[in-house]
Amino acid sequence: MLVYHLPGTFETREDHLDLLWEAGATGLEERAGLIRAYFDEETELPDAIRDGEWRQEADQDWLAEFKANLRPVQAGRVTIVPPWLRAEIPATQVGLVIEPGMAFGTGHHATTRMAVEALSDLNLNGQTILDVGTGSGVLAIAGALLGAEYALGVDIDPITIPIAEENARDNAVPEGRTAFMVGTLGDDLPGDVVADGVFDVLVANLYAELHDLLVGAYVGHLRPGGPLILTGILTGKLPLVQGALDREGFTDVQVRTDGEWALVTARA
Ligand code: SAM
Repeated sequence: MLVYHLPGTFETREDHLDLLWEAGATGLEERAGLIRAYFDEETELPDAIRDGEWRQEADQDWLAEFKANLRPVQAGRVTIVPPWLRAEIPATQVGLVIEPGMAFGTGHHATTRMAVEALSDLNLNGQTILDVGTGSGVLAIAGALLGAEYALGVDIDPITIPIAEENARDNAVPEGRTAFMVGTLGDDLPGDVVADGVFDVLVANLYAELHDLLVGAYVGHLRPGGPLILTGILTGKLPLVQGALDREGFTDVQVRTDGEWALVTARA
C-alpha cells in the first residue's frame, strides 16, 4: 500500500486537498498531525505539496481488524455474538448469533442493543411481533428466541431480506416463527399468521422523523394496550417522538438513553 505522508491536518492544508485528489489520490485520511494520501503509484506532485514523504506500508485488512475487535453484546436476557464467538455465550443467557455483514444490526449499535433489551423485558411467550426496519433481522429473531410465536420483519431495502432469513436459520429459529418481507407500513402484510395485521408488540429502529410520520400506522398495527418500542432516536429529537405519541393517544411513555441515542417505550 503506497501512502504519501503530508505534514499538517485537513484544516491547516485545506487548500492542498484538491491538489492531492488531482494528483490521483484514491483516499485521504488525517492521523496524528499527518495527512495520509493513498495512491496506486508514485506520481509527480505540485510544489505546494512536495514537503511530504512517500511510504510503502503493509496492507491492512480493515474487515479482519473490525471482526477481530467484535465482542459479545449483552442486552438484557440476550447475548449477541458473531458466529465465531458462539462459545462465549453464557449458559444463563439466550444466545443470538448475527453474522456482521451488509445489513444494519449486529447488536453493537446502542439502538439495537437497547431494543433487544426492551424486548427481553417483556414476556413474549406466544406473542406476535412486528419489526419495522428489520435490517439483519436481529430484533425479530431476538423476539422469536425469547418465545414469540411469530415475528414479522419488514424493510424497504431488499438486500436485507435474504440476510435476515439466513440469520434466522443460523439461530435455528423454527420454521414459521419468523418471516421477512420487503416493504413498509401501509403495504399489505402477509395475513397467514396475523390475519388482521394487528400484532401484540411493535418494534421499530428507524429515526425520529419517520416515527413521527408512521405513528398513526403503529396504532393500526398494534393491539390495544400492546407495547410499542421505538429507537433510532437522537436524544435531541425526543420531543418530536413524544409529541407524536401523545397525539395518537399512546400511554405509559418511558425513555431510556445511551449516549446520544434514545429508546422510547409506550402502550397503545
Ligand atoms: N432493526 C435493525 C436493528 O435494530 O439493528 C436494523 C435497524 S436500521 C437502523 C434501520 C432499517 O430500517 C434499515 O435496514 C432500513 O433499510 C430500514 N428502513 C428505513 N426506512 C424504512 C421504512 N420506511 N420502512 C421500513 N424499513 C425502513
